[in-house]
Amino acid sequence: MSQSLILVVSAPSGAGKTTLCRRLLEETELVFSVSHTTRPPRPGEVHGQDYYFVDRKTFEDLIARGGFLEWAEVHGHLYGTSKAEIERLQAQGRDILLDIDVQGASQVRSRLGSEAVFVFILPPSLEELERRLRARGTEKEEVLQRRLTRAREELAFAPWFDYVVVNDRLEEALEDLLAIIRAERKRPFRRSYA
Ligand code: 5GP
Repeated sequence: MSQSLILVVSAPSGAGKTTLCRRLLEETELVFSVSHTTRPPRPGEVHGQDYYFVDRKTFEDLIARGGFLEWAEVHGHLYGTSKAEIERLQAQGRDILLDIDVQGASQVRSRLGSEAVFVFILPPSLEELERRLRARGTEKEEVLQRRLTRAREELAFAPWFDYVVVNDRLEEALEDLLAIIRAERKRPFRRSYA
């Protein structure tokens, strides 16, 4: 049996990662790893589909029990990938998509090494990033400023990733991601020759 591919996608917020990930899930057999979060749901978000929405106590108990593959505090809320979620998807023999922040990505790399592939999505520019965040209109000015500051810091992490994809035109960025997945599936350690 071939080993499942774990694709870890990170980006400064507003780089268009959510849309790209959604398209990727439509175009491939990849399955989404649903994270736990203490952030309240946004309109339209579904428990168990977008996130497992839990309170801080539940999240902290899971940390204490060693239940997370990785977790991080992002914009004042806790986010994490549970080991149970990854094991459940791996048991199905599925390739897995993780949409997590750079702190989480670095924890995944130290735990899983080359089992996972790390892709960083970049916006074409910081100005474009700000424009996209404002167009999304889901955040108050203060929250938006916090996200922009963090985005500037996060840009510095780009060289750490295996691949960097600039999301100028969505279709091209999607093509890039599909090419990365195709190539990574051809790595010898992900194939069986029996
Ligand atoms: P949002 O609140 O906009 O859905 O996500 C905010 C940030 O948290 C995004 O950068 C997203 O990738 C990140 N995030 C979502 N789930 C996880 C997770 O399980 N672990 C970590 N480390 N970050 C996550």
